[in-house]
Amino acid sequence: MLKDVCNCKFTNSFKLEADFVADPIWCNACGWNLDIDDFPLTDNLKNALYQWTEQCKKIPINEHNAIGQNLTEKVKEEIGSEYRIIFIPDK
Ligand SMILES: [Zn+2]
Repeated sequence: MLKDVCNCKFTNSFKLEADFVADPIWCNACGWNLDIDDFPLTDNLKNALYQWTEQCKKIPINEHNAIGQNLTEKVKEEIGSEYRIIFIPDK
């Protein structure tokens, strides 16, 4: 899994950052926007990520960042310890 998801061919380092026009997971090495469906995440978590992305700019930034941090922890648990994901807070 997670081969050929971006120009790196293989990456194990990702970042979570909300951009309402794109899926919220990006390659941390090349900055490519990744398809959330390439990740072995539960539907519950995917829906939570989409919802969080949609709410982007509609809720206070501190609230947005708190949810994002929480979602990052959940993604970490679901993708396994061989992958790294960091959260990029909105400013
Ligand atoms: Zn990449």
